[in-house]
Amino acid sequence: MESTILSIKNLNKRYGKIHAVNDVSLEIHKGNVYGILGPNGSGKSTTLGIVLNVVNKTSGEYSWFDGTMQTHEALKKVGAIIERPNFYPYMSAKENLELVCKIKGINYNKINEKLEIVGLLDRKDSKFKTFSLGMKQRLAIASALLNDPEILILDEPTNGLDPQGIHQIRDIIRLIASQGTTILLASHLLDEVEKVCSHVLVLRYGKVLYSGTVDSMTNHSVFFELQANDNKSLTDVLKQHPETDTVSEIEGKIIVHFKNKVDAAQLNQYFFDKGICLNHLVQKRTSLEEQFLALTNK
Ligand code: ADP
Ligand code: MG
Repeated sequence: MESTILSIKNLNKRYGKIHAVNDVSLEIHKGNVYGILGPNGSGKSTTLGIVLNVVNKTSGEYSWFDGTMQTHEALKKVGAIIERPNFYPYMSAKENLELVCKIKGINYNKINEKLEIVGLLDRKDSKFKTFSLGMKQRLAIASALLNDPEILILDEPTNGLDPQGIHQIRDIIRLIASQGTTILLASHLLDEVEKVCSHVLVLRYGKVLYSGTVDSMTNHSVFFELQANDNKSLTDVLKQHPETDTVSEIEGKIIVHFKNKVDAAQLNQYFFDKGICLNHLVQKRTSLEEQFLALTNK
């Protein structure tokens, strides 16, 4: 069985009248990239704060590493960035990381390796205060990686960055994930979650609206736009296809949703075998954004 890094069950947090986290459950397994997606104020940071032991829960449970260790022991195997990166401004990147190593009892030989991952090796002797916000964020990631954590937790990792900085951080997250580190990130950005995460928990007003893989959220939304000289026969043949779910016509184009994944080439062959030549076949999908809006507006 794949090992569980973190298990959250029916977690609740109330701030007076505000139910910030409302019955949230989530299982985090090794090797995946999880996104907690939701608009501002939906309870993302509060949820992360609880499992990192900086916010007290109201009720519910969470356990780290199959419950094999106490939270403070478990947190030694967790790398987390939940605030704006803060280092000593007049010290270099390398000196700042040396200080972190000294405090945490980590060998200095990790420093270059982690600076390399975040693309700051050639800037290791520059003072922190000369860094851009994106570089500061990347240094924070290097710092969180020094102890080779089992999981890296990031709260809104690209907030406030310019497009290039955002791109760099996302590439780094993918690189770290490809090396086997489990990642949990909170974001209010749909495309961020779509681009880097394998799994997603959608929150609104502290409640879970969707929990599952990003693929199964998007797979459902695949559909085809078709056209033939004789759309009537096209529709008849289409209705005989075992995977056909719904068929409709919009402006001379036949729109079909399938129950399961159907490949464009297979579909083309299917029609050809039935004596129909398509003059239009386009695979489309509803973006995660549209689905997210549909979920959060309901
Ligand atoms: P997100 O990270 O998704 O933006 P938060 O977890 O920060 O959301 O906040 C969830 C809700 O809890 C919000 O309504 C917020 O105002 C409230 N909240 C967060 N922290 C506190 C606090 N320390 N005291 C009172 N209310 C809080
Ligand atoms: Mg937040």
